[in-house]
Amino acid sequence: MAAGDIKKQVIDYSIKAYSNKESAMAYEVATNQPVSVPLPLVDRTREIVSVKRGVAGFRSRTEGSVAIDLPSDFHHQELMDVNPLDQEAVIEFSNRYGLLWLPKAVDESVELPIMQSVRRDWSQPPLHRAGNDPQIEIGEIQIALRLLRAAMCSWIAYCDNASLTNAWTAENLSPPMGDDQAMRWFLAVINPGLVSSHPAVVLVDADDTGQDRTVGLGATHVVPFYDAICARIYNDIVTGAPYAYCENEPCNRRFLTKRTDNDRSRVRTTGLQYCSDRCKQNQDSRQYRRRQKAQQET
Ligand SMILES: [Zn+2]
Repeated sequence: MAAGDIKKQVIDYSIKAYSNKESAMAYEVATNQPVSVPLPLVDRTREIVSVKRGVAGFRSRTEGSVAIDLPSDFHHQELMDVNPLDQEAVIEFSNRYGLLWLPKAVDESVELPIMQSVRRDWSQPPLHRAGNDPQIEIGEIQIALRLLRAAMCSWIAYCDNASLTNAWTAENLSPPMGDDQAMRWFLAVINPGLVSSHPAVVLVDADDTGQDRTVGLGATHVVPFYDAICARIYNDIVTGAPYAYCENEPCNRRFLTKRTDNDRSRVRTTGLQYCSDRCKQNQDSRQYRRRQKAQQET
């Protein structure tokens, strides 16, 4: 391959389908690799068993699976459906999908001034695991959720050529100073969660030629919940595929793939109107009721 070809390849994948022609942003969101990262199982070993004054005590799970296979569109569905301000919902969410905690690089980020202000209210350091009595501030789980949701919505706004500020203020976070700072915050949230997606040399079974390389010896088999969400957002950026709006009125979420009720197959198709079969059913019956009502009135 000639040197010119390599240069062209680099340029090709760094330019996304979305362009911010109208704005004067100093940055453009891209990825340093042209390929999606694997989505390993998510660590579900920790279980919250008590809550006292905003601090959750947790222990190693004694029942149920210690790893979970999250759908590839988890960041569009469950992440966006949970209310981070509802403490009980957050605990339920943590015990179902995995304990969410902040990577050290996020917690100590100088880029994210939000972190200094929230930490002042914590009595425990982040994910305090010392001794027989491991604890985590519920506030840490909540801020992790809020940051990830803000990052997700920043990317959606970026794709829409919209202002990125609302993504942060919608999570009750202080507004970034302009879209360029919002982009740097986006990186500060996402990149520490991509560390576990590193490339690796793996060993596969010599007799099994069709073996999945992502399960080979040396591959990452289980990742923290935080990382799992970051990897999903990263893959959306790599794919560069435009999102669709779910046409079910109360849902209205952005999505790439449709989810079905009976299995978790995600069929990527174009021209989709609904994020799930359920949303289609709900909107169909809503429109049916409207037609009925209109008929009665005439
Ligand atoms: Zn929907």
